[in-house]
Amino acid sequence: MSHDGFIPYSLPMIGEEEIEEVLDTLRSGWITTGPKAKEFEREFARYIGCRHAIAVNSCTAALHLALDAVGVGEDDEVVTSPMTFAATAEVIRYFKARPVFVDIDPVTMNIDAERVEELVDRRCGESRSRVCNPRPKVIIPVHYAGYPCDMDRIWAVAGTYGLKVIEDAAHALPSYFNGKIIGSTGDIACFSFYATKNITTGEGGMVTTDNDEWAERMRIMSLHGISKDAWNRYSAEGSWYYEIIAPGYKYNLTDIAASLGIVQLRKADRLWRRRTRIAELYNEAFKELEELETPAAPPSIPGSAPSGLEVKHSWHLYVIRLNLERLTIDRGRFIEELKERGVGTSVHFIPLHIHPYYRDTYGYKPEDFPVAYETYRRIISLPIYPRMTDGDVERVVDAVVSVATKFRR
Ligand SMILES: *Cc1c(COP(=O)(O)O)cnc(C)c1O
Repeated sequence: MSHDGFIPYSLPMIGEEEIEEVLDTLRSGWITTGPKAKEFEREFARYIGCRHAIAVNSCTAALHLALDAVGVGEDDEVVTSPMTFAATAEVIRYFKARPVFVDIDPVTMNIDAERVEELVDRRCGESRSRVCNPRPKVIIPVHYAGYPCDMDRIWAVAGTYGLKVIEDAAHALPSYFNGKIIGSTGDIACFSFYATKNITTGEGGMVTTDNDEWAERMRIMSLHGISKDAWNRYSAEGSWYYEIIAPGYKYNLTDIAASLGIVQLRKADRLWRRRTRIAELYNEAFKELEELETPAAPPSIPGSAPSGLEVKHSWHLYVIRLNLERLTIDRGRFIEELKERGVGTSVHFIPLHIHPYYRDTYGYKPEDFPVAYETYRRIISLPIYPRMTDGDVERVVDAVVSVATKFRR
């Protein structure tokens, strides 16, 4: 690839078809939410196999609308992983609700479902009446890197105590749990089309659900709490009349962005196959390298999915974990050395509980979630995107091997 020899951490795959579709929208005279956004929603719902897909301008907006729809309020507790992006927890704070972190599984780096069970049992079991307040009301599992969480266990404990489950599926397009695509089962799932995500609209998101009432609420709240969207209001078959039923938000997706989404979605499986292939090449190349650990490859969810039973990874991220005791340098220096060798990387994520806001608001110490903290010190996300050639992959492999062997203890 011709980027001055440097392999950036991420690059979108925008083809002539996407450009044509955007031009078509620009020429049509309808550039904000309209027919293309509707088409994108329809195609997305069909791809996932859900009743409702609502296009919004980010996954953060999707998560916000989802929490509003299920009725989260002040002092409610929302259980989630510390190993996630800012968005997952900040939306909880929008309601003055409380994020309750549960440590991660050391193998998958997903929220530890057994610990979720323990916590919810403890918190909800404390009041036998099951109406104690505050108490957990929602669980937000994050399908980290695209490896699906152990949803059987999470749904079971949520069902026992009447909690809602909102999946942060920002990485999970597509991921499969027990043969079902993420977003097609459960309460609500939220997807991201940010520039680095598996399919992109620059900025954008989608929320999926089978629940008619929640879908209606989220659609209305995504556009100022107005009970009809702009297309219905201004087009020939619409009317000028509208009603504001709640103070909503401005979260609608433009038709310009939706144009990208329509074309990207058609390519989603092809893009996914290429990501999977790159992950296989990395796995093979790093297999014998004792300075690092490769990501868990499904299926290995304990207690569920027997071998071969359809747990599928979207390979949004390829996260290596350094075996620091075998190296003379730390993760920060490893990243610098890769950069000097022309390879861009990233870190997913700096756990939320060590950031100043969460640390100071809730008094968290790094050791409060020891698995997330210790994992954080070892992780590096390598470039993995369909535009990478096999030659690019080889260059990343050579750089990683060269740093690992040079600084071998
Ligand atoms: C990217 C991301 C989001 C936020 O997505 P936006 O579309 O940028 O709002 C939320 N959660 C996770 C885990 C993400 O990686």
